[in-house]
Order: sequence, then C-alpha cells, then structure tokens
Amino acid sequence: MIVALAGGVGAARFLQGLVNIHREDDITVIVNTGDDLISYGLYISPDTDIIMYTLAGIVDEKKGWGIKGDSFNCLEMLRRYGSEVWFNTGDMDLSTHILRTKLMKNGLTLSECTNKLSKLLGVKIKIIPMSNERVETRITSEKGGMSFQEYLVKRSAKDRVTNITFKGINEANPAPEVIESIMSADLIVVCPSNPFVSIKPILSIKGIEEALIKTKSPKISITPIIGNKPVKGPLDKIMRGLDLEISAFTVANFYRRFIDAFILDESDQNLEDRIVSLGIKVHLMSTLMRGIKEKMQIANNVLRIAKELKK
Ligand code: GDP
Repeated sequence: MIVALAGGVGAARFLQGLVNIHREDDITVIVNTGDDLISYGLYISPDTDIIMYTLAGIVDEKKGWGIKGDSFNCLEMLRRYGSEVWFNTGDMDLSTHILRTKLMKNGLTLSECTNKLSKLLGVKIKIIPMSNERVETRITSEKGGMSFQEYLVKRSAKDRVTNITFKGINEANPAPEVIESIMSADLIVVCPSNPFVSIKPILSIKGIEEALIKTKSPKISITPIIGNKPVKGPLDKIMRGLDLEISAFTVANFYRRFIDAFILDESDQNLEDRIVSLGIKVHLMSTLMRGIKEKMQIANNVLRIAKELKK
C-alpha cells in the first residue's frame, strides 16, 4: 500500500500521475482538513474536494479548484440578496457540500462522508481526512487572527503572517485507519504541498509523526518549491513572514525527522549538499507537473527511488 500525505493542488497533480501507473485500490491518501470551513451552514473541505474532483476527472484544472464547467448562479443570487460572499463555490460544487453536511447531520463521520462521496464519484483511491475532529488552521498576522481561508481567499494572502496555529489540535485524534495505514505502508510519499499549512497540521495530530518515524517503509518527499518559488499558492509569502529561508532546503529540513529521500527540482541543484548533510538522500529531476506525462514521470521516479531505498 502506498500512503500519501496531502494538501490540495500539488498533491492532486502528483496523485493523478500515480493512479496512471499504480493500482488505485492500493493507494491511501491522508488529507489535511485544517483548511475546512463552514459557510452558510455547509461543511466545506477544500483539500479533500480538490483531490476527490481531480481523481474523478472533473476538477477545473485552470482554476485549480472546483468543478470544470461549473456555474455560479447561487453565489450571484446570494450577492443580489446583499450577502457578503467571499468563498467561491460553484453550483455543482455546492452539491458536494450540501450532501456532506446532510450526511454529517445524519451522524456520519467526516471519513465516512469522504468515503461515500468519493465512491459515488468513482474514485477508488482511499481518501482519509487526517481527523474526524475539527482542527482549524489559524493565521496570526499584523491585522490580527483569521482562519486560513480568510487569509487566502478573502484577503488574498496580503497580510504578513507572523504565526500559524491549529485550533483543536491537542484534542484531535487521527481518523480511523490513519495510523494503521502508515504503519503497514510499503511506501510513504509526502506530496508537493504547503509544509506549514497543509502537512504540519497532519503531523501535529497525536501519534502521526511518531508513526511516520517508526514505520519501516521508505519515506519520500517531493519539493513544492522550484527555483526558490512555490509553483502555486502563498508558501513564499508565509515563509517570508515566518522569517524562513524560501527554499526547498527549508522544506527538507522541516521533514528531516522522518524522510529518507527528497525529490529536489533540478534547477535547485545548489541546495543538494545542504540537504544531504541533513542525512537525506537527494534525487534531482524536473518536478513541474503540467501535463499527464510529467505527472506520471515523477510518480515513476518515486516508485523507482522507493525500490532503491528498500535494497
Ligand atoms: P496552498 O499553499 O494553500 O496552495 O496549499 P497546498 O498544500 O495545496 O500547496 C500546493 C503546493 O504544491 C504549493 O506549494 C505549490 O508550489 C506545489 N505545487 C503545485 N503544483 C506543483 C508542481 O507541478 N510541481 C511541484 N513540484 N510543486 C507543485
């Protein structure tokens, strides 16, 4: 079983390549839910949805979120009513949130809902939210505290981030099968995701990082940074705010307690020696995943590196 730790877009791109070269039912994805929000009473799980829509082949690849060809009539009508709407959800996308919320009201856990929705969309990969308890990623900035979606979407990531916290993290338990799948995995992949807002919440839930350290399987991480810039999203702004060096080295260093190998973009070869000095094997390659060929190539490389690590 391959187990992947995932945020949104970068993870979805990698997984799209992986499902083309590996049996879908032999892949489990543990997804960040710190970015989840409740809007108009609806439970929205952005990272889970990006992954689910991508694997179901219905994601809007241009936007990087939502469903392709979706309309936004409901939001327009809400605006006509004078409502302040800042989190964009298309009409088809809304049906996911409506159904999830209904299922949760009927007593299903978030993992049960995720399982049900992804099966209904024909996704065979097992998608598990990191926890069934609510964890909320909170951004502290010079403008005060706010949720991650307020920071990213409502305020367009314009505030200087001075701290990131995860409300509810100490009470949250890993969702069923999270620890078991890590412990029995043949390979763990940390997808190209934002380390500080997407992967850190997963690692901060009790028992998860310990399980990653303990498990005997090879552990490989793929850089989310190419040429000292993230491919997408606010990672550079967040790192600058936190006074961190904006480079793949910082990412590798952050995962150093458990990863065996780090996939570094070939344009960042100058960082290789520093990452190797952390005791991490470095593999250089092109890591930009535009088309399916590039996605499959990275996935192939990950499987090859895993084999080498097992020798
Ligand atoms: P975000 O920071 O809120 O967008 O959170 P995510 O966890 O979804 O992070 C997406 C990360 O994936 C960003 O840091 C991107 O740089 C990275 N990413 C997206 N597409 C690619 C790609 O094609 N190649 C690589 N190496 N990274 C990617």
